Amino acid sequence: MSARERDVVVIGAGQAGLATAYYLRRAKLDFVLLDAETGPGGAWRHGWESLRLFSPTRWSSLPGFLMTGGPDYYPSRDEFLAYLTEYESRYALPIERPVRVSAVCNVGERLAVETDYGTWLARAVISATGTLGAPYVPHIPGLDTFRGEQLHSAEYTSPLPFAGQRVLVVGGGNSGAQIFADLLDLADVTWVTRYEPTFLPDDVDGRVLFEWATERFLAAREGRDPSSIPSGGLGDIVLVAPVRAARDRGMIVSTRMFECLTPTGVVWPDGREEGVDAIIWCTGFGTALDHLRPLGIVAADNRIAMTGTRSIDEPRLWLVGYGEWTGFASATIVGVGRSARATAEEVAAVLG
Ligand code: FAD
Repeated sequence: MSARERDVVVIGAGQAGLATAYYLRRAKLDFVLLDAETGPGGAWRHGWESLRLFSPTRWSSLPGFLMTGGPDYYPSRDEFLAYLTEYESRYALPIERPVRVSAVCNVGERLAVETDYGTWLARAVISATGTLGAPYVPHIPGLDTFRGEQLHSAEYTSPLPFAGQRVLVVGGGNSGAQIFADLLDLADVTWVTRYEPTFLPDDVDGRVLFEWATERFLAAREGRDPSSIPSGGLGDIVLVAPVRAARDRGMIVSTRMFECLTPTGVVWPDGREEGVDAIIWCTGFGTALDHLRPLGIVAADNRIAMTGTRSIDEPRLWLVGYGEWTGFASATIVGVGRSARATAEEVAAVLG
């Protein structure tokens, strides 16, 4: 087998790729991970400096290796990055980076994985590229005319560049709440949301959300009514320490959406124009599947028809970690293990 031929190529070495690799290694498969980043951590490398996970250590751990810190400890971004770095070396995962995959193509018996560093051939491909590559910004009149700074939450790192500026943080989810709280002491910041944001109770965190989701999943699978089990959608805001502190100071206030942008600011629903220096869009992500388009299996809604984590129309392709449509809770740290394991077991069975 040549250096560029593997039984399995995993695209992406964020948490989903690493968890999958853990099980591929256990199955003794021949594989490589190709990752576009310059170092470990996937999307977490792009989190803001003060970011704290809303899931305590046990719910922030990948298969086989429990994070340290105790059951009630919420890791920081840097601690989680250090954990992922250690995970890679602990299991000696074969990761090539920075390597960006541009296309996966059907070339007969194999799939060709084309990259900026040449082509790999594989009998099976597992895509675990996450959502960071598809930041979503809503189409609002005047968006292109605004001459101030605009950035997506995926690009936000620190409040310091915004000191003294008039800033709007747009988006009523966890990122919006946390970035708003991060800016409060340094900038003249307003939190803009389409609806009044929903906050979870103080004692509900990632662990409780995951337990509720698991109960609903099991109830649905066993034919019981899941509606009696609390939900708390992923859009509901977890009161992580900085958001809770801002709430306790009475600072968490939100304003409804502006009507349009102007070259220098925004127009509010009452017709008032206001100058703004910067807008931070905390409006979520789509799914970055462009590298899979040459296979002709990405539908108009940017989804791929799946059974479990396996593509129906290209059965040599699996997808791990994108969200519920590729596996229950697969876009969470603790949840991705289940999809990763099922995928590796299926790939091992198919490759024999
Ligand atoms: P990623 O981390 O995005 O990894 C994908 C990797 O693939 C990246 O390294 C990327 O560079 C690479 N890649 C992409 N395209 C290509 C390509 N074409 N070629 C090669 N490589 C490519 N979950 C929790 O469980 N607990 C939390 O507390 C929590 N907090 C969160 C806070 C925020 C602000 C956000 C946004 C999410 C949070 N999540 C949390 C959700 C989830 O854990 C993350 O979204 C997670 O990073 C997804 O991991 P992933 O491996 O699927 O994707």
